[in-house]
Amino acid sequence: KWPEIIEHLRTEHEIMSVSFNTWIKPLTIYNVLEDTIYILVGSNASVEYIEKKYSLPLKVCVAEILNQEYEIVFVSKDDERIKPSETTIEEINYKKQIQSLADKANLKKKYTFDTFVVGKNNEFAHSSSLAVAESPGEVYNPLFLYGGVGLGKTHLMHSIGNFILEKNPDAKVLYVTSEAFTNEVIEALRAGRTSPEETAMSRFREKYRTIDVLLIDDIQFIIGKTSTQEEFFHTFNELYDAEKQIIISSDKPPKEIETLEARLKSRFEMGLIADISSPDYETRMAILKKKIEIDNLERYHIQNDVLSYIASNVKSNIRELEGSLNKLIALYRLGNNEGEIDIELASKALKDYISPENKREVTPELIIDIICEHYNITVENLKSNKRNVEISFPRQIAMYLIREETSMPFKGIGVLLGGKDHSTVKHGADKIAKDLKEDETLRNTIEILLKKIDPS
Ligand code: ADP
Ligand code: MG
Repeated sequence: KWPEIIEHLRTEHEIMSVSFNTWIKPLTIYNVLEDTIYILVGSNASVEYIEKKYSLPLKVCVAEILNQEYEIVFVSKDDERIKPSETTIEEINYKKQIQSLADKANLKKKYTFDTFVVGKNNEFAHSSSLAVAESPGEVYNPLFLYGGVGLGKTHLMHSIGNFILEKNPDAKVLYVTSEAFTNEVIEALRAGRTSPEETAMSRFREKYRTIDVLLIDDIQFIIGKTSTQEEFFHTFNELYDAEKQIIISSDKPPKEIETLEARLKSRFEMGLIADISSPDYETRMAILKKKIEIDNLERYHIQNDVLSYIASNVKSNIRELEGSLNKLIALYRLGNNEGEIDIELASKALKDYISPENKREVTPELIIDIICEHYNITVENLKSNKRNVEISFPRQIAMYLIREETSMPFKGIGVLLGGKDHSTVKHGADKIAKDLKEDETLRNTIEILLKKIDPS
């Protein structure tokens, strides 16, 4: 895409051809690492000059063409200071390798111990997680983390996995949600039924039983199915007997998960159980500040009284705490950055989030939020006209679930989903309803979504 980017730069920023040929054309991509692009500057050009003059326009063009923001760093072959030494190349390769290992392990790189704020509410869960990460299989096995929605369980689990991989790239780490695990079991059983050999099932077993560290998130959704619990029980026992580390999360302690078989409950109680509760005011402030630092939001100069207003009002869910901050910044940008980020704006941003203790209602908006979070896509995308399956499938699920769970007619659903017509919505909802009859994994997924929508 590089030629396209510099061509865009040339036309959008009306760069004279002599300037273009002298400065821009000789640039080559040196490396791309996570969110930074390293650009090699030719030997007879000045890095400082190019940086000063072109780094910002280039950054804008890159974001426009690639639909993603990158930092731009110019490097020169001759410049001793930034000359990439052998070790940096090695380091770069090492990081790349870790990245691809993290991908294989289903780990999100942004969730690490470094970005996790420790407070009274989570210090025990945090220190237990760190101990397990430092000595997998040796101290607390299994480690069972539990706590309410949005309090940092998933963040801690990824932190453990990332820490272990960073220290030992050879470790076989695997993070799965219990939904993914259940669907894999269902698939393997189905494939085993249609083909004479049980290859799918043995492949499944092979995969899970050769793992060093298994992280299984939201175990409360291993529901009802004896076959899945059976399979999980055996996986658990084999890993446990081989002294492999198992980390489990749930919204409740083992003994309170009704759908869980007694023998699994007692297995889960063999190790260490750590809970995470709601953060206090100081911790909420610290999390907001950390988030500002990580997302480079300092430039908005949000005053302490505004942060304190958010932290005093959003109490029980850290995801909502982050959401309020994002909403605040979105509102500020929408207003063309006029005015100030003040408490008045913050109170607007919080309208969606401050819901006094009263029971939340199942609204179409809630269903959309839950589906988007579940599939890790944005609400914007869900409401778009994009047709790729990563987006159109969750959109059809939204059509189906809103229709089933609320009284909204197809027409209203269409409007809510970014202006789809009645027949599109009906078609989507009908398709899911029809597929549900045959597709057991879809049934499992819908069952889990329904639990997320209405946990009671
Ligand atoms: P859970 O899995 O318990 O529902 P998550 O781990 O998904 O919650 O956390 C929700 C959001 O809050 C994530 O974006 C996470 O990074 C953030 N978060 C939770 N706890 C902390 C913390 N102690 N420090 C910083 N961020 C946190
Ligand atoms: Mg989670």
